[in-house]
Amino acid sequence: MSLDGVYDDNNPFALILAGKIPSIKLYEDAHTLAFLDIQPQSRGHSLVISKWSRARNILEIEDEALAQVMASVKKVANATRRALAPDGIHIAQFNGAPAGQTVFHLHVHVVPRWEGGPLGFSAHAQGNVADAAALTALADEIRAQF
Ligand code: AMP
Repeated sequence: MSLDGVYDDNNPFALILAGKIPSIKLYEDAHTLAFLDIQPQSRGHSLVISKWSRARNILEIEDEALAQVMASVKKVANATRRALAPDGIHIAQFNGAPAGQTVFHLHVHVVPRWEGGPLGFSAHAQGNVADAAALTALADEIRAQF
């Protein structure tokens, strides 16, 4: 899987949108969905996706879908800041496996960062799967800030 390819209807985010696997939602509107990453790089790490675009990466995405996703990224970043008081917020997006992409439905990472914490995505998508109950409690904190 790299920059070119066919959209896989069974990718994890397609399955979330189809209601076939669960997600811990932070925010949803008509066009976008935000949920917590199950292998978080930091406390409060979330992902924002388009509900309707079948773009695998930024090279393919419709301008309208990209604008909708980024507007939601801003909302999620602000709510995350209000909830968790990070010192910085890392916004990241990966295109193609050599760039670190592992799920081929375009998504934007919103990663709160704290002074003295690690930088970068070294263990990206390889870390421990977070405790579901802890993520659910965290989601409640962030959802209260929209
Ligand atoms: P990327 O490597 O940029 O494609 O990012 C994919 C991200 O999706 C990684 O950070 C994974 O931890 C995360 N991820 C994969 N499956 C799920 C899932 N079912 N629910 C939430 N996050 C997921």
